[in-house]
Amino acid sequence: MTPAELRPREGDAPGGPGGPGPGAAGPGGADQAGDAPGGSGSDGKHPADEDPFLARRLAMVRDLRTTGPRDPEVLDAMARVPRERFVPPELVRHAYDDCALGIGHGQTISQPYIVARMTELLGLPALRRRDPSRRPRALDVGTGSGYQAAILAELGAEVVSIDRDAALSRLAEERLAALGFDDRVRCVVGDGTEGWPDGAPYDGIVVGAAAPAIPDPLVAQLADNGRLVIPVGPREYQVLTVVTRAGRRIEQHTYDPCVFVPLVGRLGFPG
Ligand code: SAH
Repeated sequence: MTPAELRPREGDAPGGPGGPGPGAAGPGGADQAGDAPGGSGSDGKHPADEDPFLARRLAMVRDLRTTGPRDPEVLDAMARVPRERFVPPELVRHAYDDCALGIGHGQTISQPYIVARMTELLGLPALRRRDPSRRPRALDVGTGSGYQAAILAELGAEVVSIDRDAALSRLAEERLAALGFDDRVRCVVGDGTEGWPDGAPYDGIVVGAAAPAIPDPLVAQLADNGRLVIPVGPREYQVLTVVTRAGRRIEQHTYDPCVFVPLVGRLGFPG
């Protein structure tokens, strides 16, 4: 795989290029993400009347499809999860811009492109297709706003989401509960560089913060054929890295260059 072009930094200010405008969405194609929630229309109302963000959400997904991430199930999940509910009220108008946004405590909600890309690399839909009777287990390191966890849950995963910041974790937990994700996402507080052994083994582990090196416990907590998606590198820039475990064989591949906030912990950066 060739790395994609360098995407905007995770910490970029809102309003950058690529922000979809309202009303720009049309119905999607065959792999459309257009079957979004928002009402059946049986009462004569158009879904957009009930969900003022629907058009922007679908425009975001349409733009994502042209910039790289193609997995229809991942894009469908992103068309269903209301990203505007995961950003601070003053940034709601930027919720569907393709950039990271501040969520307080010096942290960010990752840009939609990165969420789509990391989720696609995790490969959960393929697992579900192989065995529809089993919910994949996922560990989300760096809960932040809870958006990534919601996307994983929307894909049918049973999610443990860990953050070292108890206040952010609590907020995310409340948000996820308000949206009905609490039956599939468990928010825990701790150092995610150690993983969360209680929920292991995981079919997928996604790390939403930059690691100086791949923490061994995360690899150890992967299920057979499980995947770990993690940005690895110095504080200034990283490369999205996928670690796959097949039996005792561990493989590692690198993908997009990226810039994340640091993973701070025993096997991460010093605080
Ligand atoms: N995935 C999030 C964004 C992550 S921002 C979202 O969808 O919104 C990075 C998060 O990683 C921050 O919330 C930060 O507190 C957390 N973090 C940093 N180091 C960590 C560690 N060692 N363990 C768990 N969380 C950590």
